[in-house]
Amino acid sequence: MNASAGADLSSSANATEDPPKRLREAGQVGPAKKDEIREKALKDLQRFHALMLDGHFDFGNGFHGRLYLNPHQLFRYPSTIWRFAQDLIDILPAELLDQTEVVAGPATGGALLAHTVAGLLDSRRAITGTPTMFAPFMVDTYRGPGLSRFYRQQIAGKHVLIVDDVRNTGQTLARCATIVRSAGGHVIATAELYDRMEYAAGACPLCKAGVPVTTF
Ligand SMILES: [Zn+2]
Repeated sequence: MNASAGADLSSSANATEDPPKRLREAGQVGPAKKDEIREKALKDLQRFHALMLDGHFDFGNGFHGRLYLNPHQLFRYPSTIWRFAQDLIDILPAELLDQTEVVAGPATGGALLAHTVAGLLDSRRAITGTPTMFAPFMVDTYRGPGLSRFYRQQIAGKHVLIVDDVRNTGQTLARCATIVRSAGGHVIATAELYDRMEYAAGACPLCKAGVPVTTF
């Protein structure tokens, strides 16, 4: 993601071309506190068995990687996703949050997260303001993410924050951003709980080093 890279709980927030880079550390929570939040979130992800580190996973889509984020573990208890949504909001720049009119995410994990983030944003805003909207991208196995005509109309002219549970190759978030723009919305950032590094199976350094594939 170049045009609309955002933030994730696993590393430093990446500023985008739009909004400007000065927003990077302009959040309501200081950089040291943000690192603390990230560290705690990482521990929580492991504590809830949502995140497995230091493995050698075959994701079944032609990609291998060291990390595995289990969305079922993450979304099984609503309170778990509320917790991580709060953490994500805390590490995002305050100006970016102020601009957010719509939070959109790809089904299923990203949509559940987007719905929660949109609701939690309103809990931090004046009750007299316009409520934050939520929009789900429906994901087709073959065609990728899509947005219904209803939501395309709803997001026209709006500032949209796109969230997902895990960023793999970045293709899903890139496709979602393209859809928002084609519907006349403005993508202000993308954010995810975890940025999972992947390798094409043929170029996997773990395979080359003879590390056995992790099995469950
Ligand atoms: Zn491998």
